Amino acid sequence: MSATGIAGPATFPTFDDAVARFDPVMGMEVHVELGTATKMFCGCSTSFGADPNSQVCPTCLGLPGSLPVVNRRAVESAIRIGLALNCSIAEWCRFARKNYFYPDMPKNFQVSQYDEPIAFDGWMDVSVDGDDGPSTYRIGIERAHMEEDTGKSEHVGGATGRIHGASHSLLDYNRSGIPLIEIVTKPIEVPGSLAPAIARAYVTELRELIRALGVSEARMELGQLRCDANVSLRPAGTTTFGTRTETKNVNSLRSVERAVTYEIRRQAALLDQGAQIIQETRHWHEDTGETTAGRVKEEAEDYRYFPEPDLVPVAPSREWVEQLRATLPEAPAARRARLQAAWGFTDLEMRDVVNAGAMSLIEATVEAGADPAGAKKWWLGEISRSANERGVAIDEAGITPEQVARVEELVRAGSLNDKLARQVVEGVLAGEGGPDDVVEARGLAVVSDDSALGAAVDDAIAAMPDVAEKIRGGNHGAVGALIGAVMKATKGQADAKRARELIMERLGS
Ligand code: ADP
Ligand code: MG
Ligand code: ZN
Repeated sequence: MSATGIAGPATFPTFDDAVARFDPVMGMEVHVELGTATKMFCGCSTSFGADPNSQVCPTCLGLPGSLPVVNRRAVESAIRIGLALNCSIAEWCRFARKNYFYPDMPKNFQVSQYDEPIAFDGWMDVSVDGDDGPSTYRIGIERAHMEEDTGKSEHVGGATGRIHGASHSLLDYNRSGIPLIEIVTKPIEVPGSLAPAIARAYVTELRELIRALGVSEARMELGQLRCDANVSLRPAGTTTFGTRTETKNVNSLRSVERAVTYEIRRQAALLDQGAQIIQETRHWHEDTGETTAGRVKEEAEDYRYFPEPDLVPVAPSREWVEQLRATLPEAPAARRARLQAAWGFTDLEMRDVVNAGAMSLIEATVEAGADPAGAKKWWLGEISRSANERGVAIDEAGITPEQVARVEELVRAGSLNDKLARQVVEGVLAGEGGPDDVVEARGLAVVSDDSALGAAVDDAIAAMPDVAEKIRGGNHGAVGALIGAVMKATKGQADAKRARELIMERLGS
């Protein structure tokens, strides 16, 4: 058997062929690490990047005699997530022990929720581009429950960082006990050709929602949002679900789409051979774009779940739930639609803005007085480019919305032209200070004062008598060449409009 689960060399049908003959069903499980200050059941800090095992205590190490206490903030975040996902909130629910051994889990059980999740039966709409424009799909939410994160193993001495080939392993329990919310969808049955894009859109939208709620930064590259993708196939047009695989830890939006695509093709190849799909977990490999077999999937009963005896049930009062409902932010999709309408952007423009992560930045720039088109031009142009080149996020590029608005203001007032404005932005990004500092230090003001411009205009006319003659003869289109010369002479700082007026005056046109 190869890594693909197929005997001999893998020949997969194309994606289009696979989804023409099979209907995929998906299920997404997303873990969100909450941004609470302390852990789920103890007072240890959750801050990222501390020395290994420096943020631990008897409770999160599972030492004898320690007792957990629920973090109210985490429950509050769980309820807000549930409400934002249109879920019902349990009036009474318990934690449960999920029993298994793994070295990164010192208690030998994980405190989770089982048949009594805090939030259940909700939905979220996502929208994707199909052949005939964007369409919206409603993703059912099965449940959102609270649990605690495990510690982290680091396998040392091997080439891959995986346990195979490692000489020894190190354990860091700083992450042990950090609050997690697991959000599980109902089976997602959508047109097969769109399934990977819908899976990606779901995780994208969920990430936006989590961020809008302010409960987590939800940065996938830091593992703050982790996605497992369940996929099964059934013959097109049939209703019984096929056997699913669960691809673990798909840790970027692009990978969500790729992993689902890969599993659809791989399973189609197996089914074509008359083979059975094994219900198993699979590992996603970012580098090769493949999944490989993990463990054969255990059933819920294998975990011997039972209600956690050391914790009281969580019984959020209806008043509290309603108070939390009142704190919900505008839904991301509604916000996007509202801003797009206010700014007058096309769907395509808005998509670029969203993809660049520039929506809030443009919003703040407009609030600071810039016009939307001008704000978009800077954030999606100069600033994005500079951020990309340096590998930093656009909001860490080194310029604020207020500064961008100030540059636009200087342009509107005529003290900067487009070329000079670009140099100002460049200067701000390079850490030379705010726009006014850069203008001052680099001497970047538009020259519109007649005495300074006049000399450059005279020189240009003297240097190009033939052009001057044409203009005198009524060919006003030729003026561009003279303006160009004036610009060159003033290093781009001339007020082009005033230069044109002066040239026309001098040539009597
Ligand atoms: P587990 O504990 O095995 O991870 P969960 O119930 O937490 O199971 O998650 C399983 C996910 O897979 C859910 O999103 C569910 O809707 C989805 N799912 C269930 N059956 C299938 C299937 N046959 N094909 C694809 N997805 C499925
Ligand atoms: Mg699960
Ligand atoms: Zn602790």
